[in-house]
Amino acid sequence: MSSWRDNVRSVEPYTPGEQPKEENVIKLNTNENPYPPSQKVKEAMAEIKNLRKYPDPAASDLTGAIAAYHGFDKDEVFVGVGSDDVLAVAFMTFFNGKKPVFFPDITYSFYPVWADLFKIPFDTKALDDEFKIIPQDYYGENGGVVFPNPNAPTGAALSLDVIEDIICHNQDVVVIIDEAYVDFGADTAKELTRKYENVLVVQTYSKSRSLAGLRIGYAIGNKELIKAMNDVKYSYNSYTMNEPSIVMGKAVLADEDYFQETRKKIIETREWFKEEMKKIGFSFADSKANFIFAAHESVAAKEIFEAAKKNKIYVRYFDKPRINNYLRITIGTKQEMEVLLDFLKKYVKR
Ligand SMILES: *Cc1c(COP(=O)(O)O)cnc(C)c1O
Repeated sequence: MSSWRDNVRSVEPYTPGEQPKEENVIKLNTNENPYPPSQKVKEAMAEIKNLRKYPDPAASDLTGAIAAYHGFDKDEVFVGVGSDDVLAVAFMTFFNGKKPVFFPDITYSFYPVWADLFKIPFDTKALDDEFKIIPQDYYGENGGVVFPNPNAPTGAALSLDVIEDIICHNQDVVVIIDEAYVDFGADTAKELTRKYENVLVVQTYSKSRSLAGLRIGYAIGNKELIKAMNDVKYSYNSYTMNEPSIVMGKAVLADEDYFQETRKKIIETREWFKEEMKKIGFSFADSKANFIFAAHESVAAKEIFEAAKKNKIYVRYFDKPRINNYLRITIGTKQEMEVLLDFLKKYVKR
């Protein structure tokens, strides 16, 4: 007996962080920016017209603005519905070989989900004991390479030299560098896309521009890569970018001062928070992102996670091998971090 069930694509979906419904919580579990988006976004709302019509399928205004901001041509930029969309299109477009795609064992947990969804073989490479990527692990034959810089959920960043070394050893495949957190202190590899035709750099508005709700992500790469991604995109949905996102996404780039100000505030809070956390027995990789990934010397992470939640403080906990004694804590405002610290100080001393 055959059933329609035999033909269902079965996948285990990615689990995003919890979005609590209760009010007055301190939410440090999904790496959102604690500051509101630029005022320019509000001003731009008045310019949203023509919702009766389909949007420009190429989102040219937005693509052009992002390209100009970064010093690239319009046809070197691909825009998508958050960088999750951009990464999914990139996986679909570039990872079609028989050899496994390489990525770290501890990394963005969406990578294995896309690989399974698109039936891409993959092989994970273990980070070292300090949660660092070992470049030599990526020298072997593969069908592509992808890693975030800084890595998630560890926050550890690679230098451009190490990134270029990985690229040099992988010139026959596409290398994707996921820079979701790059604005918080790591070096962008975007200039390497001019030197290497096989490199794609992916960034997002969700973290450093306080616009997770707008859903804008983009990739920078050479024209041929970008065209291939657009061909794939136009083959399943021409209108991924909606008109409000195009208009507001363009406007926000004009507010560089606000971007720099909020970015710096988060970096300052993070550095202060690191020092305070060390004093109470936490250790962590030196994060260059808007979160730290911390373990306590004596109290189990899971226990802290649950107790914090009871106190309306949400952090992220992954019940997975190697990382099940760590908490990923988003850097919020200084006040939010003070509340968390007060709670932790009392809790870990018990
Ligand atoms: C948050 C995140 C993304 C995706 O963010 P979008 O909101 O879809 O732009 C991609 N990669 C990593 C590593 C992330 O943490």
